[in-house]
Amino acid sequence: MMLTAACLILTGCQKEEPVRNVIFMIGDGMGLNQAYAGAWAKGRPLEMMASTTAFALQETWSDDNKVTDSAASGTAMACGVKTYNYAIGLNRDSLPVESILEQSARNGKATGIVVTCAMTHATPASYVAHQKNRSMAEEIAVDFVRNTPDVIIGGGRKHFEQRKDSLNMSDSLRAKGYDVVYTLEDAIQSPSELLAAFCADDKLPTVVDGRGDFLPKATALAIKKLNKEKKGFFLMVEGSQIDMRCHSNDMVGEIGEVLDFDEAVAVALEFAKKDKHTLVVITADHETGGLAILQKTPYESAERFRHKFTTTGHTGVPVPVYAYGPGSENYEGLMQNSDHKDIISRLMRLK
Ligand code: MG
Ligand code: ZN
Repeated sequence: MMLTAACLILTGCQKEEPVRNVIFMIGDGMGLNQAYAGAWAKGRPLEMMASTTAFALQETWSDDNKVTDSAASGTAMACGVKTYNYAIGLNRDSLPVESILEQSARNGKATGIVVTCAMTHATPASYVAHQKNRSMAEEIAVDFVRNTPDVIIGGGRKHFEQRKDSLNMSDSLRAKGYDVVYTLEDAIQSPSELLAAFCADDKLPTVVDGRGDFLPKATALAIKKLNKEKKGFFLMVEGSQIDMRCHSNDMVGEIGEVLDFDEAVAVALEFAKKDKHTLVVITADHETGGLAILQKTPYESAERFRHKFTTTGHTGVPVPVYAYGPGSENYEGLMQNSDHKDIISRLMRLK
């Protein structure tokens, strides 16, 4: 009787096995309207809508602003604390907080980050670095060398190799046993389990400018490499440029980035369906552009999609959370961006 009560309180001692792997996917700036613009342009629901089993709405406000930036919201999702805008991996008192990626690594899991922006940009940085301002790209690169996930694929080469202090952080990564490469093709060929792929000096091109299937392919590669670790893995994948297209009020670009991100989601869900021990969470850090969808007739092209952006900045509306896999039932109702770390940590039984 007492045992039952204790179990109910602890909730961690059900007979269910711990979740082995988590793939956490962030569409930067992807509000509901951004996602639905993608779906309507595609002519059918996105994978994140059609192939997931749970849905929640997530509030995104930061500690000092109803409208968050990507650093504060990234830190909230990664580290489980609300903090001030521009902070990376620090709480409101500027003290470092362990991220879910760092906690996963400390518990023996493999870890990875896949993005289409610079690796030092706010969202990926929130999972690895601890700095007072997101603009401190060179300091963030040092944090990435001190505290490197097993697999990192994205851009940002210049912050590692063309630095004010003249240090070559890629050589430092090589000294730690990493294979450092500069194209996705070389990354795919690499036999190394420790991999850093800096595939652009800064961010990668947009989808419209020919990025191709970089993000879904990089996601598949990261999963393949990380899945060799028997203790499981934590992988963060970001559709980084949905936000950037919305800052530019570029509807065609926005749709391209959302559909590309959804292809990476499809890769993750396909793996999770076979694996059965993988939780996939798909969400956003905030909405960008105050996008409204006004009217669309079937088969209308993205260019003719009637819409209106109401700002070139972020807004404070809640964003969608889609989930699939063991533990996905934890994603329901209204939640905070700072809830993810505790949910994932508990499901994976991290210490
Ligand atoms: Mg971002
Ligand atoms: Zn933004």
